Amino acid sequence: MQFKKAHFVTGAPSLDVCPEAYYPEVCLAGRSNVGKSSLINAMVNHKGLARTSNTPGKTQQMNYYLVDDKTYLVDLPGFGYAKVSKKERERWGRDIRDYLLERPTLRLVIHLVDIRHKPSKLDEEFFYWLGTNRLPFIVVLTKGDKISHNKCQQSKARVKRILDEMNIEVPIIISSVKDDVGIDEVKELISEFTQ
Ligand code: GDP
Repeated sequence: MQFKKAHFVTGAPSLDVCPEAYYPEVCLAGRSNVGKSSLINAMVNHKGLARTSNTPGKTQQMNYYLVDDKTYLVDLPGFGYAKVSKKERERWGRDIRDYLLERPTLRLVIHLVDIRHKPSKLDEEFFYWLGTNRLPFIVVLTKGDKISHNKCQQSKARVKRILDEMNIEVPIIISSVKDDVGIDEVKELISEFTQ
């Protein structure tokens, strides 16, 4: 499937300054450098739309992109970034929690985890928190091109075990923006959840 056009709308540091809650929206969460911007760019087939870089923590606000004049994709600030102060991290947690719990148009959370790494404690806490609050979410395991097919499957099974233990059943998708793997599947789920 195709997302035909997309543009950057605004960056919002907190819920009260988000754009009017009008279009259904899907947000991307995960630690800094996990590949959120790259996934957005790959889905809309526009390399420079969301900024990508090797500098973790560059985005400290929620970046809104409007896709095909009908869906907002929201790039959330990466969590667990060590270089910001504890106070800032706490404020981040509150702002994002407010957004996730109170945004009336939010339809889906995409939680990204680097396929090479075991989900961190923060990732696991986030899975549990999303499950407890009954927020619809999917897990995308990024950078699938960086390890073998077998290792990818092992990593997926590990995430599934963690979610099973929490009694959470959600799609787990392996992606690679380099090899164009999983991108269509994520887009299909986005359109399903935002219809
Ligand atoms: P963000 O901080 O979550 O927005 O992460 P970025 O999208 O900026 O990606 C961080 C780094 O990982 C960049 O150098 C990307 O080129 C790289 N990256 C992201 N996705 C992939 C992928 O699927 N395969 C490979 N090989 N590199 C990726």
